[in-house]
Amino acid sequence: MSTGIFQVPFPFNEPVKSYALGSKERESLLKTYEELYKKVIEIPQYIGNERVFSGDKINITPPHDHKHSVGIYHKGTAEDVQKAIRTALEARKTWASLSWEHRASIFLKAAELASGKYRDLLNASTMIGQSKNVFQAEIDSACELIDFLRFNTYFMSKIYTEQPNSSEGVWNRTEYRPLEGFTYAVTPFNFTAISMNLPASMALMGNVVIWKPSNKQIYSAKIIMDLLEEAGLPGGVINMVMTDPAETTKQILSHPDFSGVHFTGSTRVFNSFWTEIGNNINHYKTYPRIVGETGGKDFVLAHKSAEPSLLAVALVRGAFEYQGQKCSAASRAYIPKSLWSSVEEKMRFMLSEITVGSPQDTSHFVNAVIDENAYNKIKGYIDRANKAEDAKVIIGGQCDDSIGYFIRPTVILTENPHYESMIEEIFGPVLTVYLYEDEKWDTIFELIDTSTEYSLTGSVFSQDRYAIAQASEALKNSSGNFYINDKPTGAVVGQQPFGGARGSGTNDKAGSYMNLLRWTSARSIKETFAPPADYKYPFLT
Ligand code: NAD
Repeated sequence: MSTGIFQVPFPFNEPVKSYALGSKERESLLKTYEELYKKVIEIPQYIGNERVFSGDKINITPPHDHKHSVGIYHKGTAEDVQKAIRTALEARKTWASLSWEHRASIFLKAAELASGKYRDLLNASTMIGQSKNVFQAEIDSACELIDFLRFNTYFMSKIYTEQPNSSEGVWNRTEYRPLEGFTYAVTPFNFTAISMNLPASMALMGNVVIWKPSNKQIYSAKIIMDLLEEAGLPGGVINMVMTDPAETTKQILSHPDFSGVHFTGSTRVFNSFWTEIGNNINHYKTYPRIVGETGGKDFVLAHKSAEPSLLAVALVRGAFEYQGQKCSAASRAYIPKSLWSSVEEKMRFMLSEITVGSPQDTSHFVNAVIDENAYNKIKGYIDRANKAEDAKVIIGGQCDDSIGYFIRPTVILTENPHYESMIEEIFGPVLTVYLYEDEKWDTIFELIDTSTEYSLTGSVFSQDRYAIAQASEALKNSSGNFYINDKPTGAVVGQQPFGGARGSGTNDKAGSYMNLLRWTSARSIKETFAPPADYKYPFLT
């Protein structure tokens, strides 16, 4: 039992390593990449302390080299899901009552391991399995993942210290209990950090978790489980199942002890969760918490006072880093006609320099999109734009899936602000640009605000403070993360809490205390030191 009121070390953001030519970190990471690339590993499910090798083997291939195998994973069954639930509920008996500082220590230790011993493994597995270049891997699978661990642990301690006032003769206290039952984490393919954070943030708050990673991210998910285990996370607290997504979700959401879901992925899938939870509402022992961060159709709005070269850089980085497969990626731009020729010229130049290929060759800014389905979907948008009357592909558009799923950064120009690629989430390296008359600035906000179902990220570029103020106000509800003279991607834990509303999610701000609060169920305790001895109030005389 603790006999101190402990303070978690004040968190700092993990410094981003440069991987410059000749640097030690570059040599070390590329060596790990080569070693992993030559191996064929087997990935089991992690249920309690057991490693479940089902024998139903699914090949894992890098998106940039889809004929090459780096391993197989053992796909699980419906019985494995039930076993994971039983294991989690059993683990809850000890985990939920463990003093919080021990939970904190485990996740702080995980941060140190990720910063040191596991850094290359996390980055190399993300480069191989998700086709990220060195820098995109570093900011995700190393830095953001470490930041989630350090900051969330600190935020947890801040939540615990948040206590109510007490009147004379009374001591009021709040305790932040974990949710009853078990929780469910369902994670997307595109960020290794998110995939760790969703189960880890719930476990940090004392919950037990069934984690179903995306089957396109299993390679780095395995490294996360090894890391957490080495940090001392007891078996059964986070159980990683690799099972059919729809079937698993159906089983979990119909279980009476289900108490919360932490989801990141597409809007369509999240909506199906919510419907299912509604259908099962009479079966649960407690109302489940529903947290989902979902899709985006993120905008960049330029005012005529914007600096064209800075705008062009933001568009290239914001739209094409990690092949546009970020929920926050710039995918629709509204540019005044007077600026366009200058912006276009600069973008053309940058995009002519950019090469596309394997992340092992660090000269490539752009790598492969995640799989064949994504490739076909994105190519479909490009093919249709090539034939459209109200849109045309003006830069890029080349696709080649002979070795990897490669798509060159593509810019579509349209006169129709409701053209399909202006309003639908493509999740690929495609930016659509709509040009507006400079004097129509005042009317552009409503168009941006109402064109899509989403409200995730957005940017305004301007040198005119009145224009910035006007855009900030008019677009108040058009995004959950708003950027001024910056690209709409790259939120940093502890600095820009991330999330959006409308079709983009429940806006519970991953990487902040707001998210952690969802994984607790507070109990208010009132202790009275001198209870009344007479039932009569003074007014009764
Ligand atoms: P996805 O919706 O296809 O998959 C997400 C998860 O849901 C995966 O684990 C998947 O296996 C599971 N899933 C898929 N179909 C399911 C079904 N029918 N029933 C139950 N589970 C199912 O998303 P993705 O392709 O992995 O990721 C891309 C999406 O995620 C984009 O829409 C992107 O905008 C979104 N995203 C949002 C954020 C954010 O913070 N808002 C962050 C990252 C990604």
